[in-house]
Parts: sequence; structure tokens; C-alpha cells
Amino acid sequence: MMHITKMMIEIRNLLQKVGQSNTVTLPAIVVIGSQSSGKSSVLEAIVGHEFLPKGTNMITRRPIELTLVNDPDARVDYGEFPDLGLHRITDFSLIQKNLVELNQSVPESECVSDDPIHLVIHSPRVPDLSLIDLPGYIQVAGENQPRELKRKISELCDKYIRGPNIILAISAADVDLANSTALQASRRVDPRGERTIGVITKMDLVDAEKGAAILADKQYPLRLGYVGVISKLPTQTGLFKRDTGNILTTISRNEKSYFGQYPALFGSDAHINTGVVTLRKKLMQVLEHQMSSKLQVTQDAIQRELQETTYQFKVQYNEEPMTAEAYLAASLDDFKHLFHKYASTFGRPQMHELLKEALDQRVLDQLAARYWNKPISDLVPALPEPDNIADLPKADPKSPYWHLQLDTASSALTRLGVGRLATTVVASAVQSNIDQLINKSAFAKHPSARQVISEAAATVLADRAYTTSDGIEFSLKPYKYEVDIQPQEWQQGRDHIAGVLKTELEHCQAAMKQLEGVVGGRKKLKEVMTFVDKARKGEVVVEGETRNGAGGFSAALLAKGREAVFLRDRADIINMRMLAVKSRQCKSLENKYYCPEVFLDAVATKLTQTAVLFLNVEMLNDFYARFPREVEAKLGETMLGGGLDRFAREDPRIRRHLDLIKRKELLELVLSKIDSLNRMDGTGMGMGPGM
Ligand code: GDP
Repeated sequence: MMHITKMMIEIRNLLQKVGQSNTVTLPAIVVIGSQSSGKSSVLEAIVGHEFLPKGTNMITRRPIELTLVNDPDARVDYGEFPDLGLHRITDFSLIQKNLVELNQSVPESECVSDDPIHLVIHSPRVPDLSLIDLPGYIQVAGENQPRELKRKISELCDKYIRGPNIILAISAADVDLANSTALQASRRVDPRGERTIGVITKMDLVDAEKGAAILADKQYPLRLGYVGVISKLPTQTGLFKRDTGNILTTISRNEKSYFGQYPALFGSDAHINTGVVTLRKKLMQVLEHQMSSKLQVTQDAIQRELQETTYQFKVQYNEEPMTAEAYLAASLDDFKHLFHKYASTFGRPQMHELLKEALDQRVLDQLAARYWNKPISDLVPALPEPDNIADLPKADPKSPYWHLQLDTASSALTRLGVGRLATTVVASAVQSNIDQLINKSAFAKHPSARQVISEAAATVLADRAYTTSDGIEFSLKPYKYEVDIQPQEWQQGRDHIAGVLKTELEHCQAAMKQLEGVVGGRKKLKEVMTFVDKARKGEVVVEGETRNGAGGFSAALLAKGREAVFLRDRADIINMRMLAVKSRQCKSLENKYYCPEVFLDAVATKLTQTAVLFLNVEMLNDFYARFPREVEAKLGETMLGGGLDRFAREDPRIRRHLDLIKRKELLELVLSKIDSLNRMDGTGMGMGPGM
């Protein structure tokens, strides 16, 4: 008998994992009662240990699904929280502490939660039982309790007291049964009293006659009857010393001594049930009977469920197997594949292009600072007679002025920290490419894995940044003193810088267009520009310019006008310089002082070439070798301790796939267990209604 209940409880617990469907489940015993009715005391007496959270402010906020396992081999009693991975807790005060904490994890604003705590207790002295402890009904919400607490508790209990569960309705003898919230609730869902067991606690607090009358079951008849108990642990003095281990012995001794005083009322002839021990027996019988009677229906329901699941598996996934490990391995393969493809497209030429582009900007900066800005160095409105190119020394290759200008510009380029610039430019390009790869890969749907991979890239790149940058600087050292340009390099520089200037010109023009849009059209912009020009030449006085503007233009408009004038002048100069670069003068290296654009471009190319050689060996190749290993190692760390499962389930598609397979496996397992249960009992015991 015992063994059968144990197996059915096991089946029930497995079914809990399948899902919430009410048809595909076996019954459990649900314990309800108002606060202070003695509910906890009864449960603890059944278990034989004090383990439930107590105290005036302690409201149970989550159901506790308690599985009692009769384990003849257990040398000591112990509890387990399977969901938390906590096993073999032999100290019941620790179990109590855990329950308090799990209870407190429900935020007060939520009042109660229907997410159950699973607790399994093993002992040679407990019967196999499946009990669910629910929050006690409250009559009036306390001062600090939210108003809806009462309603929420009641709703939560309603969910659990539905059939086929057995209701253990706890009421105290010293409270009129008509007012018992537990019995009222049970009558609502079980009006004929077919699956409710009444427990009357605190029998010691009423007259023995009155107590016996309650148990006689006349007023509110229940088919499974009432049991009267004194579940309170007697005070530690005198006759009833607490046993250090099991409290049931003490409680039961106390009950026997109390009820024994009234043999006429509570003796065997009275046909009244009293005592926790009797209650336990009753619970075992009723549970076994109720479970057995539902076994066939449950089996049928599971079979249907399994058929449906198998069908889904075929239709949706073509019976393709799936595990979290396989998913991770496939995701990694996919990512590595993308990475290798990327690695084959990003090498020296690409680094060269990136770095050269960055240096082109620096060349333009030098040109602007040392050559182009000269005539329009200031945009203050009342500029005296504007400088113009004619004021500068003649473009004489022998003029020390132009020598100095070009030498300073060239040396500024070589000393601007190309090492750092190069490593930064390349590292950030690689990093952003990796981030794009992640977004294209299966990891895109996994925020934490994304971060891990991205950080792995950053770590490997950062590892080499310093030495690479240093190495580049070292190898560029000679250029800091002299740069020797070959005719071929000059030619290349000339071609290249023409393109750079063209792009820069286009930028100026685009910026101009944008300004037109901002101020409200080309005409308007022209008007402001004319005013700014005149102001610069001193033809109009703008001394009175305040924050409100001048000449009928607002300050903001004037600022835009100055910007436009700057852009126009810049465009003019670039146009002029483009012609110069293309002219015969700039054809040959000898004329380098005429053509600083070409010379500086050639210098920048030299710097780029040297830097790229270093970058390739020191940084990129190292990255390509180490990054995949780093990703694997770092991802591996996050997959420990349930991380793998969490990872796979982040992808909704995989989660559904895994869930379906798990469901199918669980249903198959349950069916096989029911089968062996049926085989054990060749007569089909338990399935018949008349057990
Ligand atoms: P719960 O709030 O329903 O869980 O009730 P408890 O089990 O915490 O009991 C409430 C109070 O009633 C506690 O002080 C218990 O000691 C006391 N109590 C419980 N059962 C009995 C009993 O059978 N007799 C007496 N006299 N007191 C009891």
C-alpha cells in the first residue's frame, strides 16, 4: 500500500513539472484554515518537527508543496528544497529559516504569490503524503497589511481547493463552526462534503462534551469525517517533556492523556476520531484512495497529452532533437565560421586604408593650420583689411619661411602619436566589426553572451595595444628627423591627395547646403554672408552688436553667416589648391615647397605603411589566434551552474523546442511509471471506484 502511494506522489510531482493543466494531475491534500486556527501546529505534528515560519507578523505568502517520503533507510530525518538544489538539511530550524526567506522574497506589494515552494521531507517515521500548505485566511487585515491581502489569499486558496484535491479544513474548537472560514470555503467547492476532511484543533480549550458534539459530525456532515486534535506542543514541564527528536510522540502522548480522561465521550465505542496519529492514518488512506481513483483518468489524459505533444514535435520540429549543449555548440560553430570569414577579409590593406584615412584628416589639419587659414584666420566681424595670399612671402622654394612651414608640418605629423592613433583606430574598427558579427550570429538573442564575447574581444585587443603602440613609435623614429620621399611615392601622393581635397570640398559644399536649409534658403544666407563680408571689410559698423544681433540679423543668424563665409573661403582655397596640385609645378618632387599637400600625403603614407606592418604582426595576428579561444573560455565560465540552460532558453524558439521535448520526455516517463504501477498490481488495484 505504502509503496503505491509513494509512486503516485512521485508521479504527481513529475506531472507538476509538465504543466499546470488540472486534468493531467493527481490529487494532493490541501491544508486551509484561518490564521491561528492551529494549521501550522497540525502540519508540524504530522511531520514530527517544528519547521514552519511562525510569529505574529509572519504571513505565509507562498504555497508550500510538501512531499513526505517514508524512507525506512533514512538514519535521520531531513528536508530538501529541490528547486534550490538544497539537499539533506537535517537541521529543521535551517529549513524554517529557508522558508522564512523564500516567503519574504514575495514583495509586500504583491501580497501573495502562487509560485509554490517545494519542500521534501524524508523520514522513516512519516507516511508518504503530498500536502500543500496555503496562507491562512485572515479575518480583518492588520494595520500594516494591504487591503487586498485578504482577497488575494482567498483567491489563491480557491485555486488549490478545486477537485480532485482533498481539502484538509482546519477549524479551532473554540470558534463556532458556523464561522469557520475553512469549512465555508470547502463547502463552496465541495458542497456535498465528499473530499473534505475536517480537523478540529484546540480540543483542550472547550468542554469535552462540546468537543465530542462537534466531532459527531451532525451539524456540517462530511463524508470523510472530522478528527479532533490537540496539536499544541505541551509546555516542557512535568509529565510531557519534549522529545529531542520527534514532536509527534509528545503531542500524541498528551492527546491520549487528555482524551483518555473521557472514555465515554472519546472511547472507541463513541465512533469519534481523535488524535494526530489517527489523522495521519486517515490522510494516508484518503490520499491513496483518491489518487488511485484518479489514476485511470489521469493516465488517459496523459496519453492524449502525449499524443498531442508528439504530433507537435513532428509538425513543428520534424522530430529534430535539441539540447542546450547542442545549441551552444552550434551557436559557437556558427560564430566561429562568421569570424573566420571576417578574418579573411580584414588584413593589411584594410588596416592601411583605415589608418591612412585617419592620417588624411591630420594632414588636412596641418594644411589648414599652416597654409589655408592664413588669409581667413579670424572670423571676428570687424576684421580690418583682410589678409590675402599676396601678403605672404613669395612662393619661392628658397624662402626659409616655406621651408620652416613644411618641416614643421611634416614633423608634427610624425610626432602626433601615430602609434596610439594606429592601435586605437584598428582596435576600435575590429571591435565594432566583432560587435556586428555578434549581431549577425546566433548570439544576437543572448544579451549576456553578447557581452561576454564583446568583452573578450576588448580584452584581447587591449592586451596588445600598449606594446604595439610602443613598437610603432619606435620604428617611426627615423622619420621624426627626416623623411625621404621617392619620385614614385610623390606621384602616388599627388594622386591621392587630389581625391582627399575633392572629398573635403564636397564636405564644405554639403555643410553649406545644410546651412542654407537651417537659415531658410540660399537667398537669406547670401544676405547674411554679404553683411558679414562687409563687416569684415569695415564697410558696415557692427560695433553695437549685442546678443540681439546686428544689421537686422539676429545673433544666431550672424553666427550661421560667419560659418558660411568660412566654408565659402575654405572651398575657394581648396579649389585653388586642387588646381595647384594638378598643375605642372606639383609634378615633381623638387617643388615640394610649392606643394605641401602632396608632400604631407606622401609622409602620411610612409607612416601608415610602417605602422601597418607592426599592427599586423603584433596585434591583428595575435587577435585572430587568441580571440576564438578566449570566447570559448569566457563563455564556458558563464555556462556553469545552470547557466547553459538559462542561455539556451533565452532564445524563445529554442526554449519552445526544449520545453516540448522535456514535456514529451516527462509524459513518457510518467506513463511508464503508471504502467509499472499497474503491473505491480495485476488486479488493476486502485483503479476501481470501490476501494
Ligand atoms: P496557524 O496560524 O493556523 O498556523 O496556527 P498555529 O499553529 O500557529 O497556532 C496558533 C496558536 O494556537 C499557537 O499559539 C498555538 O500554540 C495554539 N494552538 C495550536 N493548536 C492548539 C491546540 O490544540 N490547543 C491549544 N490550547 N492551543 C493550540
